[in-house]
Parts: sequence; C-alpha cells; structure tokens
Amino acid sequence: MGNHPLGLVIRNVSKRYANGVQALNNVSLDIPPGMYGLLGPNGAGKSTLMRTLATLQEPDEGQIFLGDIDVVNQKEAVRQTLGYLPQEFGVYPKASAEELLDYFAVLKGITNRALRRATTEALLKQTNLWDKRKQKLGGYSGGMRQRFGVAVALLGNPSLLIVDEPTAGLDPAERVRFLNLLSELGENSVVILSTHIVEDVSELCTNMAIINQGQILLEAQPLEAVAALKGHIWRKLTDKLTLPALEQEHRIISAKLLSGRTLVHVYSPEMPGNGFELAEPDLEDVYFSAMTGCFGVASEQPKAEGILL
Ligand code: ADP
Repeated sequence: MGNHPLGLVIRNVSKRYANGVQALNNVSLDIPPGMYGLLGPNGAGKSTLMRTLATLQEPDEGQIFLGDIDVVNQKEAVRQTLGYLPQEFGVYPKASAEELLDYFAVLKGITNRALRRATTEALLKQTNLWDKRKQKLGGYSGGMRQRFGVAVALLGNPSLLIVDEPTAGLDPAERVRFLNLLSELGENSVVILSTHIVEDVSELCTNMAIINQGQILLEAQPLEAVAALKGHIWRKLTDKLTLPALEQEHRIISAKLLSGRTLVHVYSPEMPGNGFELAEPDLEDVYFSAMTGCFGVASEQPKAEGILL
C-alpha cells in the first residue's frame, strides 16, 4: 500500500452478527502511524472493529491492510507485529508483574534469557511499574493493571497497538497517568485508542474517527474539526423545562446540567437569537454535532483529509 507502508487501510468492512445486529456497516478508514482515536458510544461497533483488526474475528466483507500485510488473510503475520490490550483481560492474581511479564515474553518467542530480562526491565520501567514489580498482580489497582497490560502488549515491539476502552474504569489520576504513558509510545507505530470518552481523544490523538451504529460519521484531525465548527456553536444557560420548546426551534446538540441549571449547545451557522451566545467549540461539540447529524458525513472518498462538510 505504497504511500503509507506502516499505516493501516480499512476498506468497506462490514460485519453482521448471527443475531442480526449490523455491528459494522461499510467502514473505510485510513489510519496513519501515531495516535488514532476511535470515538463512539457504547454499542457503536468499536470492539467489533478492534477485534477484527486484531485478527480475532473476520469481517463478512471488506479488506484491511497493515502496510503490505493483508490482515484478513495473513493473520499470523499480523499477530507477529500486533499488541492488543482488550477491554477486559485476566491476570494471574498470585503472580508478580515481573514473573508474568517474563512468562508472556517467553510465549512471544523471546527465548534468550538476557534479552528477555532486558526487555521486561525496560517495559516495567516504561510503564512505571518497576518499583512494584515484585508485588502480586492481585493487589494492583485498576490503573496499574492497565499499565501492566500495556507492558504485555508492547512485548515484541509491535507496529500495531490496539487499546480498547482502556480508561473506562480508571480514577482521574490513574487516567492521566495512563494517557501519558500512551502519549510516549513510538510515532512509527499505529496506536489505536478506542474510547467513548471525548477527552481521551482530545488530549492524545492527532487523528480520529467518530463511529455510531456501525458507521463512520466523521474522519478528521481533532484540531481541524474543532476549528471548522467555529462560529457554529451557540450556548445558553436555561431551565430544563424550556428544553422541549427550544428543541422545536433549534438543532440542540447537547444539554447538560451545570450547577443545577441546564447548559444547552445548539448548532447553527447563523445567529439563533433567543438569548443564545456564541460558544468556543471543543471536541465534545464536534462529537455531538456528528452524532446528531449536523456535522460531517461518512467518508466515501478513500483519501479524505480533514473535514468533509
Ligand atoms: P462497542 O465496542 O462500540 O461498545 P461492540 O462492537 O461491542 O460496540 O458492539 C456493536 C454491536 O454489536 C452492539 O449492538 C452489540 O450488542 C453487538 N454485538 C457485539 N458482539 C456481539 C456478538 N458476539 N454477538 C451478537 N451481537 C454482538
């Protein structure tokens, strides 16, 4: 795949489960090296796409290329260069981090003892677990477990790293630590972060896509997407009871509680009146605008860059 030897190219991927749920509907994405955010609500199809990229399941239709590797048909080649941190993973509670990482390193084929020792030491330091390496994993906090998961996923220096909903169960401090760790990962590999948390993407990712009901709603660079919304988002602090009336007249993209009142954001290219004032857009506005159909379209063009209005 010529131009992006290290990138991931996804073309027209669809998946329908036996129960009739269309989890992925003609998904096409170009994912360059670096941090990529796949943002969408629960049930959007993120895990299905992540598991498909990780060769754990097959699409009904479509093609996926990681550089020159045909992901659907060359699973072994993918697995050799893949790091996958699933949404939930088990650890052996009685093993220490050092022991279990060493064990996984053996499974990964690092048979040379000195090399294995150097590799696991470097990873435990990188994930900030070196001081806790002798501690049993059963006593680890959620954040420590996630960082241990990253250490495991990074064994063998993968060129594709997939992290599925990693911050969901973390407290704010653990979350920041975890995102910092991800941000330090190499820029030469593809790192895909699947999440329903807008801040994960805004803080970390240079490229992203928004997915809902199995379809890509927007493929963009977060900063450009936010800039493109400038002048289109208006806000008003109001009473919850006025919402139905406002809904009749405006395209409300979000309404959330703020100190007991309701902060409404609407999408409008023109001044909406009604006491609305111009808001400085952020990625949450991009997300809700896309989710409510105000902004962005599914990208049909293979080389779509930035925003498609
Ligand atoms: P997300 O990760 O964004 O929450 P998923 O990929 O897990 O989304 O799920 C997408 C849709 O597919 C949901 O409606 C979910 O209920 C359904 N789904 C996921 N896995 C299966 C499965 N193994 N069998 C049937 N339906 C599934």
